[in-house]
Amino acid sequence: MTTRRRGFPIALERVASQATTPRTTVLRPQRPLDEAVRDARAPVPPTGTGLDSTAVRERMAARLRADGVTHAGLLQAFHVVPRHAFIDTALAAQAYEDTSLPIGHGQTISKPSVVARMIELLLQGEAARNLGQLGRVLEIGTGCGYQCALLAQLARSVVSIERIGPLFDKAREHLASLRFDRVRLIHGDGALGHAPLAPYQSIIAAAVGDTLPPAWLEQLDVGGRLVAPVQVDRRQMLVVVDRGPSGYKRVHHEEVRFVPLKSGLV
Ligand code: SAH
Repeated sequence: MTTRRRGFPIALERVASQATTPRTTVLRPQRPLDEAVRDARAPVPPTGTGLDSTAVRERMAARLRADGVTHAGLLQAFHVVPRHAFIDTALAAQAYEDTSLPIGHGQTISKPSVVARMIELLLQGEAARNLGQLGRVLEIGTGCGYQCALLAQLARSVVSIERIGPLFDKAREHLASLRFDRVRLIHGDGALGHAPLAPYQSIIAAAVGDTLPPAWLEQLDVGGRLVAPVQVDRRQMLVVVDRGPSGYKRVHHEEVRFVPLKSGLV
């Protein structure tokens, strides 16, 4: 598979509203692997459009818009980042469907609608609204690097941590053309965050733990926002934490389904 990259230049726009769309369905960014693999094997009707064509990405952005995503810069990021280049060639025909897909090592690339939802929540944080972009971002769970590439379009810089060595290598390859000062990939335990580059105006996690690791809260800037799944009893909920001058405000949103946040490096 060839992975051609460009600078993905996009215009950033300020977010006009803090309103969030209430959701009732369970979002499942990481489906069970066997389900994703089964679907990946199903024949896909030819679209008549090459995956390199911007038309397929335009359709994905249009679907996200129809689903309630309003941030122009975010829609533009989905438009310019080639999702098919982050997954196995055998699965590429499904790259622009709203589905998670296996990326190896028991992990999956997240579903675009969930990625969009989480990044849009991040963009509505106080610091991000003041900056007109995400500022310095900490991402936990790089996976194949797709969300990282989207974040890089909307941020001053991104620090992204992955615990599985071969996925870290894959992401490094996928993101090779992004400048090192914009994207810093780390093979490490994301539960510890990355203190040397803290504080972060935006923190986003793609794996769920029983609690929010204290390091994430400590490394969040005042005015910054954290968006992550968290285990609440037997359910996973999307949680938004805002750090203010005198403490943290935590709001639970819809139910989600993510892979577990694990400790130890592989
Ligand atoms: N951001 C990815 C999603 C990858 S799935 C995307 O664009 O689709 C979540 C990832 O979190 C997996 O690759 C998994 O290995 C990783 N992960 C789980 N626990 C982790 C930890 N403690 N530190 C870093 N990464 C972790």
